[in-house]
Amino acid sequence: MIRPQAPAAVRELTHFVDGKHSLGTSGSHSEVYDPNTGEVQALVPLADRGETTAAITSAAEAQRAWAEWNPQRRARVLLRFLQLAEQEKDALARLLSAEHGKTVADAHGDLQRGLDVVEFAAGIPHLLKGEFSDNAGTGIDVHSLRAPLGVIAGITPFNFPAMIPLWQAAPALACGNAFVLKPSERNPSVPLRLAELFLEAGLPPGVLNVVNGARDAVDTLLEDPRVAALGFVGSTPIAAHVYATAAAHGKRAQCFGGAKNHLIVMPDADLDQAVDALIGAGYGSAGERCMAISVAVPVGEATADALVARLTERIAALRIGRSDDPEADFGPLVAPEALRRVREYVDLGVQEGAELVVDGRDFVLPGHEKGFFAGASLFDRVTPDMRIYQEEIFGPVLSVVRAADYEEALRLPSEHLYGNGVAIFTRDGDTARDFTRRVNTGMVGVNVPIPVPVAHHTFGGWKRSGFGDLGQHGPDAIRFCTRTKTVTSRWPAGRREGASFTIPTMG
Ligand code: NAD
Repeated sequence: MIRPQAPAAVRELTHFVDGKHSLGTSGSHSEVYDPNTGEVQALVPLADRGETTAAITSAAEAQRAWAEWNPQRRARVLLRFLQLAEQEKDALARLLSAEHGKTVADAHGDLQRGLDVVEFAAGIPHLLKGEFSDNAGTGIDVHSLRAPLGVIAGITPFNFPAMIPLWQAAPALACGNAFVLKPSERNPSVPLRLAELFLEAGLPPGVLNVVNGARDAVDTLLEDPRVAALGFVGSTPIAAHVYATAAAHGKRAQCFGGAKNHLIVMPDADLDQAVDALIGAGYGSAGERCMAISVAVPVGEATADALVARLTERIAALRIGRSDDPEADFGPLVAPEALRRVREYVDLGVQEGAELVVDGRDFVLPGHEKGFFAGASLFDRVTPDMRIYQEEIFGPVLSVVRAADYEEALRLPSEHLYGNGVAIFTRDGDTARDFTRRVNTGMVGVNVPIPVPVAHHTFGGWKRSGFGDLGQHGPDAIRFCTRTKTVTSRWPAGRREGASFTIPTMG
Protein backbone atom coordinates (compact mmCIF):
# COMPACT_ATOMS: atom_id res chain seq x y z
CA MET A 1 0.00 0.00 0.00
CA ILE A 2 1.39 3.43 -0.88
CA ARG A 3 1.05 6.10 1.80
CA PRO A 4 3.05 9.21 1.12
CA GLN A 5 2.28 10.61 4.54
CA ALA A 6 1.30 9.05 7.84
CA PRO A 7 -1.83 10.48 9.54
CA ALA A 8 -0.77 12.69 12.45
CA ALA A 9 -1.88 10.37 15.29
CA VAL A 10 -0.30 7.28 13.78
CA ARG A 11 3.29 6.36 14.70
CA GLU A 12 5.65 5.71 11.85
CA LEU A 13 7.92 2.76 12.52
CA THR A 14 11.42 2.32 11.17
CA HIS A 15 14.03 -0.18 10.09
CA PHE A 16 17.01 -0.82 12.37
CA VAL A 17 20.24 -1.16 10.42
CA ASP A 18 23.82 -0.58 11.52
CA GLY A 19 22.65 0.18 15.04
CA LYS A 20 20.44 3.04 13.90
CA HIS A 21 16.78 3.57 13.17
CA SER A 22 15.94 4.67 9.65
CA LEU A 23 12.64 5.72 8.14
CA GLY A 24 11.50 3.81 5.08
CA THR A 25 12.38 5.32 1.71
CA SER A 26 10.35 3.02 -0.55
CA GLY A 27 7.14 5.01 -0.06
CA SER A 28 5.35 1.77 0.76
CA HIS A 29 3.84 1.05 4.16
CA SER A 30 1.60 -1.48 5.89
CA GLU A 31 -0.85 -0.81 8.72
CA VAL A 32 -0.32 -2.05 12.27
CA TYR A 33 -3.68 -2.34 14.00
CA ASP A 34 -4.83 -2.10 17.56
CA PRO A 35 -6.79 -5.38 17.39
CA ASN A 36 -8.89 -4.35 20.41
CA THR A 37 -10.39 -1.35 18.64
CA GLY A 38 -9.72 -2.03 14.97
CA GLU A 39 -7.91 1.28 14.66
CA VAL A 40 -4.60 1.74 12.89
CA GLN A 41 -1.97 2.54 15.52
CA ALA A 42 1.19 2.63 13.39
CA LEU A 43 2.53 2.39 9.89
CA VAL A 44 5.43 0.10 9.18
CA PRO A 45 7.66 0.78 6.19
CA LEU A 46 7.98 -1.99 3.61
CA ALA A 47 11.56 -2.16 2.42
CA ASP A 48 12.33 -2.28 -1.27
CA ARG A 49 15.25 -4.19 -2.74
CA GLY A 50 17.71 -1.34 -2.20
CA GLU A 51 16.88 -0.96 1.49
CA THR A 52 17.08 -4.71 2.04
CA THR A 53 20.39 -4.94 0.20
CA ALA A 54 21.78 -2.17 2.42
CA ALA A 55 20.82 -4.20 5.51
CA ILE A 56 22.60 -7.26 4.09
CA THR A 57 25.72 -5.22 3.25
CA SER A 58 25.86 -3.82 6.76
CA ALA A 59 25.49 -7.33 8.22
CA ALA A 60 28.12 -8.85 5.92
CA GLU A 61 30.64 -6.18 6.90
CA ALA A 62 29.93 -6.39 10.64
CA GLN A 63 30.06 -10.20 10.63
CA ARG A 64 33.76 -10.41 9.80
CA ALA A 65 34.85 -8.78 13.05
CA TRP A 66 32.10 -10.46 15.09
CA ALA A 67 33.29 -13.92 13.98
CA GLU A 68 36.72 -13.06 15.41
CA TRP A 69 35.31 -12.44 18.89
CA ASN A 70 35.90 -15.54 20.96
CA PRO A 71 32.73 -17.52 21.72
CA GLN A 72 32.79 -16.62 25.41
CA ARG A 73 32.83 -12.88 24.67
CA ARG A 74 29.95 -13.30 22.27
CA ALA A 75 28.04 -15.26 24.89
CA ARG A 76 28.51 -12.43 27.38
CA VAL A 77 26.58 -10.12 25.06
CA LEU A 78 23.67 -12.57 25.23
CA LEU A 79 23.92 -12.66 29.02
CA ARG A 80 23.77 -8.86 29.21
CA PHE A 81 20.84 -8.89 26.78
CA LEU A 82 19.01 -11.29 29.11
CA GLN A 83 19.44 -8.88 32.01
CA LEU A 84 18.14 -5.93 29.98
CA ALA A 85 15.17 -7.87 28.63
CA GLU A 86 14.35 -9.11 32.12
CA GLN A 87 14.30 -5.54 33.47
CA GLU A 88 11.95 -4.50 30.70
CA LYS A 89 9.78 -7.58 30.39
CA ASP A 90 6.52 -5.98 31.53
CA ALA A 91 6.81 -3.17 29.01
CA LEU A 92 7.79 -5.62 26.27
CA ALA A 93 4.83 -7.88 27.05
CA ARG A 94 2.44 -4.92 26.94
CA LEU A 95 3.84 -3.69 23.65
CA LEU A 96 3.54 -7.18 22.21
CA SER A 97 0.01 -7.65 23.43
CA ALA A 98 -1.08 -4.25 22.09
CA GLU A 99 -0.07 -5.13 18.51
CA HIS A 100 -0.89 -8.85 18.53
CA GLY A 101 -4.06 -9.05 20.63
CA LYS A 102 -2.91 -11.91 22.89
CA THR A 103 -3.33 -11.27 26.60
CA VAL A 104 -0.49 -9.63 28.51
CA ALA A 105 0.02 -12.82 30.53
CA ASP A 106 0.33 -14.82 27.32
CA ALA A 107 2.68 -12.18 25.87
CA HIS A 108 4.94 -12.77 28.90
CA GLY A 109 5.06 -16.43 27.88
CA ASP A 110 5.92 -15.48 24.27
CA LEU A 111 8.85 -13.43 25.53
CA GLN A 112 9.98 -15.99 28.11
CA ARG A 113 10.07 -18.84 25.61
CA GLY A 114 12.33 -16.64 23.47
CA LEU A 115 14.59 -15.73 26.39
CA ASP A 116 14.92 -19.44 27.22
CA VAL A 117 16.65 -19.91 23.87
CA VAL A 118 18.92 -16.91 24.48
CA GLU A 119 19.94 -18.60 27.76
CA PHE A 120 20.57 -21.83 25.87
CA ALA A 121 22.65 -20.00 23.26
CA ALA A 122 24.72 -18.38 26.01
CA GLY A 123 26.14 -21.88 26.59
CA ILE A 124 27.64 -21.75 23.12
CA PRO A 125 31.33 -22.05 24.03
CA HIS A 126 30.56 -25.60 25.14
CA LEU A 127 28.36 -26.36 22.16
CA LEU A 128 30.83 -25.07 19.60
CA LYS A 129 33.57 -27.47 20.66
CA GLY A 130 34.62 -29.58 17.70
CA GLU A 131 35.89 -33.14 17.53
CA PHE A 132 39.46 -34.38 17.76
CA SER A 133 41.06 -37.69 16.85
CA ASP A 134 44.59 -38.10 18.11
CA ASN A 135 46.86 -40.19 15.88
CA ALA A 136 44.09 -40.96 13.37
CA GLY A 137 46.92 -42.24 11.14
CA THR A 138 50.59 -42.56 11.96
CA GLY A 139 51.64 -39.08 12.99
CA ILE A 140 48.33 -37.68 11.79
CA ASP A 141 45.72 -35.88 13.85
CA VAL A 142 42.24 -34.98 12.65
CA HIS A 143 40.04 -32.29 14.12
CA SER A 144 36.81 -30.67 13.10
CA LEU A 145 35.57 -27.23 13.95
CA ARG A 146 32.29 -25.41 13.57
CA ALA A 147 32.67 -22.31 11.43
CA PRO A 148 30.00 -19.60 11.19
CA LEU A 149 28.13 -19.30 7.91
CA GLY A 150 28.28 -15.51 7.53
CA VAL A 151 24.93 -13.77 7.22
CA ILE A 152 21.78 -15.63 8.24
CA ALA A 153 18.33 -14.17 7.57
CA GLY A 154 15.10 -14.82 9.45
CA ILE A 155 11.54 -14.26 8.27
CA THR A 156 9.08 -14.53 11.11
CA PRO A 157 5.29 -14.75 11.58
CA PHE A 158 2.95 -12.47 13.48
CA ASN A 159 1.91 -14.95 16.11
CA PHE A 160 5.10 -15.04 18.21
CA PRO A 161 6.75 -11.65 17.64
CA ALA A 162 9.29 -12.11 20.46
CA MET A 163 9.79 -15.86 20.66
CA ILE A 164 10.53 -16.75 17.06
CA PRO A 165 12.90 -13.85 16.28
CA LEU A 166 14.84 -14.81 19.43
CA TRP A 167 14.79 -18.52 18.53
CA GLN A 168 16.41 -17.66 15.23
CA ALA A 169 18.70 -14.78 16.16
CA ALA A 170 20.27 -15.98 19.41
CA PRO A 171 21.90 -19.20 18.12
CA ALA A 172 22.92 -17.46 14.88
CA LEU A 173 24.67 -14.64 16.74
CA ALA A 174 26.24 -16.89 19.34
CA CYS A 175 27.79 -18.99 16.56
CA GLY A 176 29.49 -15.93 15.07
CA ASN A 177 27.02 -15.03 12.33
CA ALA A 178 25.34 -11.73 11.59
CA PHE A 179 21.56 -11.86 11.43
CA VAL A 180 19.06 -9.94 9.29
CA LEU A 181 15.56 -10.19 10.67
CA LYS A 182 12.46 -9.55 8.56
CA PRO A 183 9.69 -9.68 11.15
CA SER A 184 5.98 -9.82 10.47
CA GLU A 185 4.60 -6.52 9.28
CA ARG A 186 1.64 -7.05 11.65
CA ASN A 187 3.63 -6.45 14.84
CA PRO A 188 7.17 -5.21 14.31
CA SER A 189 7.60 -3.06 17.45
CA VAL A 190 8.85 -5.80 19.78
CA PRO A 191 11.43 -7.14 17.30
CA LEU A 192 12.70 -3.56 16.83
CA ARG A 193 12.99 -3.06 20.58
CA LEU A 194 14.79 -6.39 21.01
CA ALA A 195 17.35 -5.27 18.42
CA GLU A 196 17.92 -2.04 20.39
CA LEU A 197 18.45 -4.07 23.54
CA PHE A 198 21.05 -6.25 21.81
CA LEU A 199 22.91 -3.09 20.83
CA GLU A 200 22.75 -1.83 24.43
CA ALA A 201 24.03 -5.21 25.55
CA GLY A 202 27.18 -4.69 23.48
CA LEU A 203 26.38 -6.28 20.15
CA PRO A 204 28.34 -4.36 17.51
CA PRO A 205 26.19 -2.31 15.08
CA GLY A 206 25.19 -4.24 11.97
CA VAL A 207 25.47 -7.70 13.53
CA LEU A 208 21.69 -7.72 14.03
CA ASN A 209 19.66 -5.71 11.55
CA VAL A 210 15.88 -5.49 11.34
CA VAL A 211 14.43 -4.75 7.96
CA ASN A 212 10.67 -4.43 7.80
CA GLY A 213 8.88 -5.47 4.69
CA ALA A 214 6.96 -8.03 2.72
CA ARG A 215 7.56 -9.89 -0.51
CA ASP A 216 10.24 -7.56 -2.00
CA ALA A 217 12.33 -7.78 1.14
CA VAL A 218 11.99 -11.56 1.29
CA ASP A 219 12.85 -11.98 -2.39
CA THR A 220 15.97 -9.88 -1.90
CA LEU A 221 17.05 -11.98 1.09
CA LEU A 222 16.45 -15.11 -0.96
CA GLU A 223 18.45 -13.94 -3.95
CA ASP A 224 21.43 -12.14 -2.41
CA PRO A 225 24.41 -14.54 -2.46
CA ARG A 226 25.77 -13.07 0.78
CA VAL A 227 22.86 -14.54 2.74
CA ALA A 228 24.13 -18.04 3.45
CA ALA A 229 21.12 -19.46 5.27
CA LEU A 230 17.56 -18.56 5.91
CA GLY A 231 15.03 -19.45 8.57
CA PHE A 232 11.34 -18.99 7.83
CA VAL A 233 8.31 -19.49 10.04
CA GLY A 234 4.82 -18.80 8.72
CA SER A 235 2.10 -20.36 6.60
CA THR A 236 2.79 -23.52 4.59
CA PRO A 237 2.44 -22.18 1.01
CA ILE A 238 5.00 -19.46 1.71
CA ALA A 239 7.24 -21.83 3.70
CA ALA A 240 7.30 -24.20 0.70
CA HIS A 241 8.02 -21.33 -1.70
CA VAL A 242 10.81 -19.91 0.49
CA TYR A 243 12.37 -23.35 0.94
CA ALA A 244 12.43 -24.12 -2.79
CA THR A 245 13.69 -20.66 -3.74
CA ALA A 246 16.39 -20.70 -1.07
CA ALA A 247 17.59 -24.09 -2.32
CA ALA A 248 17.57 -22.84 -5.92
CA HIS A 249 19.88 -20.04 -4.78
CA GLY A 250 22.22 -22.44 -3.02
CA LYS A 251 21.17 -21.49 0.50
CA ARG A 252 20.65 -23.61 3.55
CA ALA A 253 17.04 -23.23 4.72
CA GLN A 254 14.71 -24.33 7.48
CA CYS A 255 11.10 -23.37 6.86
CA PHE A 256 8.26 -24.07 9.24
CA GLY A 257 4.64 -23.94 8.18
CA GLY A 258 1.08 -24.42 9.37
CA ALA A 259 -0.41 -27.09 11.56
CA LYS A 260 -3.47 -29.08 12.51
CA ASN A 261 -2.66 -30.47 15.92
CA HIS A 262 -4.76 -33.33 17.30
CA LEU A 263 -5.41 -34.24 20.91
CA ILE A 264 -6.47 -37.86 21.41
CA VAL A 265 -8.68 -38.53 24.42
CA MET A 266 -8.59 -42.21 25.38
CA PRO A 267 -11.55 -43.67 27.33
CA ASP A 268 -9.29 -44.06 30.40
CA ALA A 269 -8.11 -40.42 30.37
CA ASP A 270 -8.84 -38.07 33.25
CA LEU A 271 -11.60 -36.17 31.48
CA ASP A 272 -11.21 -33.04 33.61
CA GLN A 273 -7.58 -32.80 32.64
CA ALA A 274 -8.36 -33.44 28.99
CA VAL A 275 -11.05 -30.74 28.98
CA ASP A 276 -8.74 -28.21 30.67
CA ALA A 277 -6.08 -29.04 28.10
CA LEU A 278 -8.44 -28.64 25.16
CA ILE A 279 -9.88 -25.38 26.38
CA GLY A 280 -6.46 -23.84 27.04
CA ALA A 281 -4.67 -25.20 23.97
CA GLY A 282 -7.66 -24.78 21.64
CA TYR A 283 -8.74 -21.27 22.54
CA GLY A 284 -5.67 -19.70 24.22
CA SER A 285 -4.27 -16.83 22.13
CA ALA A 286 -7.54 -17.08 20.16
CA GLY A 287 -6.18 -20.22 18.51
CA GLU A 288 -3.39 -18.26 16.80
CA ARG A 289 -0.62 -20.66 17.77
CA CYS A 290 1.13 -23.13 15.52
CA MET A 291 0.94 -25.57 18.43
CA ALA A 292 -2.73 -24.84 19.20
CA ILE A 293 -4.93 -27.91 19.41
CA SER A 294 -7.54 -27.60 16.69
CA VAL A 295 -8.78 -31.21 16.56
CA ALA A 296 -10.03 -33.24 19.53
CA VAL A 297 -10.25 -36.98 18.92
CA PRO A 298 -12.27 -38.76 21.60
CA VAL A 299 -12.09 -42.55 21.34
CA GLY A 300 -15.49 -44.24 21.60
CA GLU A 301 -18.97 -42.71 21.61
CA ALA A 302 -19.26 -42.52 25.40
CA THR A 303 -15.99 -40.55 25.67
CA ALA A 304 -17.10 -38.30 22.82
CA ASP A 305 -20.52 -37.53 24.31
CA ALA A 306 -19.04 -36.73 27.71
CA LEU A 307 -16.25 -34.63 26.20
CA VAL A 308 -18.55 -32.54 23.99
CA ALA A 309 -20.93 -31.91 26.91
CA ARG A 310 -18.11 -30.69 29.17
CA LEU A 311 -16.46 -28.60 26.45
CA THR A 312 -19.78 -26.91 25.73
CA GLU A 313 -20.20 -25.96 29.38
CA ARG A 314 -16.68 -24.64 29.65
CA ILE A 315 -16.89 -22.61 26.44
CA ALA A 316 -19.98 -20.84 27.78
CA ALA A 317 -17.88 -19.65 30.73
CA LEU A 318 -14.95 -18.38 28.65
CA ARG A 319 -14.10 -14.75 29.05
CA ILE A 320 -13.14 -12.96 25.86
CA GLY A 321 -11.85 -9.48 26.45
CA ARG A 322 -9.37 -6.78 25.58
CA SER A 323 -5.82 -8.04 25.44
CA ASP A 324 -4.93 -5.85 28.44
CA ASP A 325 -7.85 -7.14 30.54
CA PRO A 326 -6.19 -9.31 33.22
CA GLU A 327 -9.39 -11.35 33.52
CA ALA A 328 -9.58 -12.22 29.81
CA ASP A 329 -8.94 -15.81 28.72
CA PHE A 330 -8.20 -14.62 25.22
CA GLY A 331 -8.30 -11.42 23.22
CA PRO A 332 -8.98 -10.42 19.64
CA LEU A 333 -7.50 -11.83 16.45
CA VAL A 334 -4.64 -9.93 14.87
CA ALA A 335 -6.29 -8.34 11.84
CA PRO A 336 -9.60 -7.97 10.00
CA GLU A 337 -8.55 -10.57 7.40
CA ALA A 338 -8.02 -13.10 10.19
CA LEU A 339 -11.51 -12.45 11.60
CA ARG A 340 -13.06 -12.79 8.15
CA ARG A 341 -11.18 -16.04 7.50
CA VAL A 342 -12.30 -17.58 10.79
CA ARG A 343 -15.95 -16.68 10.19
CA GLU A 344 -15.76 -18.07 6.66
CA TYR A 345 -14.36 -21.36 7.94
CA VAL A 346 -17.20 -21.66 10.43
CA ASP A 347 -19.69 -21.01 7.59
CA LEU A 348 -17.89 -23.67 5.56
CA GLY A 349 -18.07 -26.23 8.36
CA VAL A 350 -21.83 -25.76 8.54
CA GLN A 351 -22.12 -26.19 4.76
CA GLU A 352 -19.97 -29.31 4.91
CA GLY A 353 -22.35 -30.87 7.40
CA ALA A 354 -20.40 -30.67 10.65
CA GLU A 355 -22.50 -30.08 13.77
CA LEU A 356 -21.89 -26.54 15.07
CA VAL A 357 -22.36 -27.00 18.81
CA VAL A 358 -21.13 -23.54 19.81
CA ASP A 359 -21.24 -20.69 17.31
CA GLY A 360 -18.76 -17.86 17.98
CA ARG A 361 -19.31 -15.99 14.73
CA ASP A 362 -21.47 -13.18 16.08
CA PHE A 363 -19.52 -12.45 19.23
CA VAL A 364 -19.18 -8.71 19.94
CA LEU A 365 -17.32 -7.18 22.87
CA PRO A 366 -19.47 -4.26 24.03
CA GLY A 367 -17.73 -0.96 23.39
CA HIS A 368 -15.33 -2.67 20.98
CA GLU A 369 -17.59 -3.29 18.03
CA LYS A 370 -14.78 -2.68 15.54
CA GLY A 371 -12.26 -4.88 17.36
CA PHE A 372 -11.25 -8.18 15.75
CA PHE A 373 -12.97 -10.42 18.29
CA ALA A 374 -14.14 -13.91 17.40
CA GLY A 375 -16.09 -16.00 19.88
CA ALA A 376 -15.13 -19.61 20.55
CA SER A 377 -16.69 -22.13 18.17
CA LEU A 378 -17.01 -25.88 18.61
CA PHE A 379 -17.79 -28.38 15.88
CA ASP A 380 -18.77 -32.00 16.55
CA ARG A 381 -18.91 -34.89 14.06
CA VAL A 382 -16.25 -33.44 11.80
CA THR A 383 -14.95 -35.97 9.27
CA PRO A 384 -11.58 -36.23 7.49
CA ASP A 385 -13.00 -35.36 4.08
CA MET A 386 -14.09 -31.89 5.27
CA ARG A 387 -11.95 -28.84 4.50
CA ILE A 388 -12.40 -27.58 8.06
CA TYR A 389 -10.51 -30.72 9.09
CA GLN A 390 -7.86 -30.62 6.40
CA GLU A 391 -6.99 -26.92 6.49
CA GLU A 392 -5.53 -24.71 9.19
CA ILE A 393 -8.15 -22.24 10.47
CA PHE A 394 -5.85 -20.41 12.92
CA GLY A 395 -8.62 -19.11 15.14
CA PRO A 396 -10.72 -20.11 18.17
CA VAL A 397 -12.39 -23.07 16.48
CA LEU A 398 -12.13 -26.61 17.82
CA SER A 399 -13.27 -29.61 15.77
CA VAL A 400 -14.25 -32.92 17.34
CA VAL A 401 -13.55 -35.96 15.17
CA ARG A 402 -15.00 -39.08 16.77
CA ALA A 403 -12.81 -42.19 16.47
CA ALA A 404 -14.20 -45.68 16.96
CA ASP A 405 -10.98 -47.06 18.44
CA TYR A 406 -7.34 -46.34 19.21
CA GLU A 407 -6.06 -47.40 15.77
CA GLU A 408 -8.39 -44.95 14.04
CA ALA A 409 -7.33 -42.18 16.44
CA LEU A 410 -3.66 -42.91 15.72
CA ARG A 411 -4.26 -42.86 11.97
CA LEU A 412 -5.87 -39.41 11.94
CA PRO A 413 -2.84 -37.26 12.89
CA SER A 414 -0.48 -39.72 11.21
CA GLU A 415 -2.19 -39.38 7.84
CA HIS A 416 -2.87 -35.65 8.09
CA LEU A 417 -0.97 -33.37 5.72
CA TYR A 418 0.42 -31.41 8.64
CA GLY A 419 2.62 -32.94 11.32
CA ASN A 420 3.58 -30.31 13.86
CA GLY A 421 2.39 -31.41 17.31
CA VAL A 422 0.05 -34.04 18.68
CA ALA A 423 -1.04 -35.10 22.16
CA ILE A 424 -2.56 -38.12 23.79
CA PHE A 425 -4.41 -38.13 27.10
CA THR A 426 -4.44 -41.54 28.74
CA ARG A 427 -3.54 -43.22 32.01
CA ASP A 428 -2.13 -46.26 30.27
CA GLY A 429 1.64 -46.39 29.77
CA ASP A 430 1.51 -49.04 27.04
CA THR A 431 -0.88 -46.96 24.94
CA ALA A 432 1.18 -43.81 25.43
CA ARG A 433 4.40 -45.57 24.50
CA ASP A 434 2.90 -47.18 21.42
CA PHE A 435 1.45 -43.84 20.37
CA THR A 436 4.68 -41.87 20.77
CA ARG A 437 6.59 -44.48 18.76
CA ARG A 438 4.12 -44.84 15.89
CA VAL A 439 2.53 -41.42 15.40
CA ASN A 440 3.79 -39.53 12.33
CA THR A 441 4.38 -36.02 13.71
CA GLY A 442 7.40 -34.03 14.90
CA MET A 443 6.42 -33.30 18.51
CA VAL A 444 4.34 -35.44 20.85
CA GLY A 445 2.76 -34.68 24.22
CA VAL A 446 1.69 -37.35 26.70
CA ASN A 447 -0.90 -35.73 28.94
CA VAL A 448 0.67 -32.43 27.79
CA PRO A 449 -1.43 -30.47 25.30
CA ILE A 450 1.20 -28.14 23.78
CA PRO A 451 4.43 -30.15 23.60
CA VAL A 452 6.80 -27.28 22.74
CA PRO A 453 10.15 -28.72 23.83
CA VAL A 454 12.42 -26.87 26.26
CA ALA A 455 15.15 -24.72 24.73
CA HIS A 456 17.93 -27.34 24.89
CA HIS A 457 15.87 -29.81 22.85
CA THR A 458 14.91 -29.26 19.22
CA PHE A 459 11.54 -27.95 17.99
CA GLY A 460 10.27 -28.92 14.56
CA GLY A 461 7.23 -30.25 12.75
CA TRP A 462 7.12 -32.91 10.04
CA LYS A 463 5.37 -33.19 6.68
CA ARG A 464 3.80 -29.88 5.50
CA SER A 465 4.63 -28.29 8.88
CA GLY A 466 8.39 -28.23 8.35
CA PHE A 467 10.76 -28.14 5.37
CA GLY A 468 14.46 -28.79 5.84
CA ASP A 469 16.61 -31.21 7.79
CA LEU A 470 17.15 -29.27 10.96
CA GLY A 471 14.73 -27.93 13.56
CA GLN A 472 14.80 -24.85 15.74
CA HIS A 473 16.78 -24.43 18.98
CA GLY A 474 18.48 -27.30 20.79
CA PRO A 475 21.35 -29.13 19.08
CA ASP A 476 19.84 -28.65 15.61
CA ALA A 477 20.17 -24.86 15.89
CA ILE A 478 23.93 -25.12 16.35
CA ARG A 479 24.19 -27.37 13.30
CA PHE A 480 22.02 -25.04 11.27
CA CYS A 481 24.07 -21.95 12.15
CA THR A 482 27.51 -23.45 11.51
CA ARG A 483 29.30 -25.60 8.99
CA THR A 484 31.85 -28.23 9.75
CA LYS A 485 35.45 -27.82 8.72
CA THR A 486 37.61 -30.91 9.11
CA VAL A 487 41.38 -30.56 9.38
CA THR A 488 43.88 -33.40 8.85
CA SER A 489 47.39 -32.50 10.00
CA ARG A 490 50.78 -34.01 10.28
CA TRP A 491 54.17 -32.65 11.13
CA PRO A 492 56.57 -34.87 9.19
CA ALA A 493 59.79 -33.61 10.78
CA GLY A 494 61.94 -33.60 7.69
CA ARG A 495 61.10 -37.07 6.35
CA ARG A 496 60.78 -37.24 2.56
CA GLU A 497 58.47 -39.90 1.16
CA GLY A 498 58.19 -38.72 -2.40
CA ALA A 499 54.94 -38.18 -4.32
CA SER A 500 52.19 -40.73 -3.81
CA PHE A 501 49.76 -41.52 -6.60
CA THR A 502 47.30 -43.61 -4.60
CA ILE A 503 44.52 -42.37 -2.36
CA PRO A 504 45.98 -41.98 1.15
CA THR A 505 44.76 -44.53 3.69
CA MET A 506 45.43 -44.62 7.39
CA GLY A 507 46.50 -48.29 7.45
P1 NAD B 1 2.54 -15.68 6.81
O1 NAD B 1 2.99 -16.84 6.01
O2 NAD B 1 1.45 -14.82 6.29
O3 NAD B 1 3.78 -14.68 7.04
C1 NAD B 1 5.00 -15.13 7.56
C2 NAD B 1 6.12 -14.23 7.06
O4 NAD B 1 6.20 -14.34 5.64
C3 NAD B 1 5.89 -12.76 7.38
O5 NAD B 1 7.13 -12.19 7.76
C4 NAD B 1 5.41 -12.20 6.07
O6 NAD B 1 5.74 -10.84 5.89
C5 NAD B 1 6.13 -13.05 5.05
N1 NAD B 1 5.39 -13.16 3.79
C6 NAD B 1 4.05 -13.06 3.60
N2 NAD B 1 3.75 -13.24 2.31
C7 NAD B 1 4.91 -13.49 1.65
C8 NAD B 1 5.25 -13.78 0.30
N3 NAD B 1 4.32 -13.87 -0.65
N4 NAD B 1 6.54 -13.97 0.00
C9 NAD B 1 7.48 -13.92 0.96
N5 NAD B 1 7.23 -13.64 2.25
C10 NAD B 1 5.95 -13.43 2.60
O7 NAD B 1 2.22 -16.24 8.26
P2 NAD B 1 1.57 -15.47 9.49
O8 NAD B 1 0.13 -15.24 9.20
O9 NAD B 1 2.41 -14.31 9.88
O10 NAD B 1 1.73 -16.57 10.64
C11 NAD B 1 0.82 -17.59 10.88
C12 NAD B 1 1.28 -18.89 10.27
O11 NAD B 1 2.55 -19.26 10.79
C13 NAD B 1 0.36 -20.06 10.62
O12 NAD B 1 0.21 -20.86 9.48
C14 NAD B 1 1.12 -20.80 11.71
O13 NAD B 1 0.80 -22.16 11.84
C15 NAD B 1 2.51 -20.61 11.24
N6 NAD B 1 3.47 -20.82 12.32
C16 NAD B 1 4.20 -21.97 12.30
C17 NAD B 1 5.11 -22.22 13.30
C18 NAD B 1 5.91 -23.47 13.30
O14 NAD B 1 6.87 -23.57 14.06
N7 NAD B 1 5.59 -24.46 12.48
C19 NAD B 1 5.26 -21.29 14.34
C20 NAD B 1 4.50 -20.13 14.32
C21 NAD B 1 3.60 -19.90 13.29
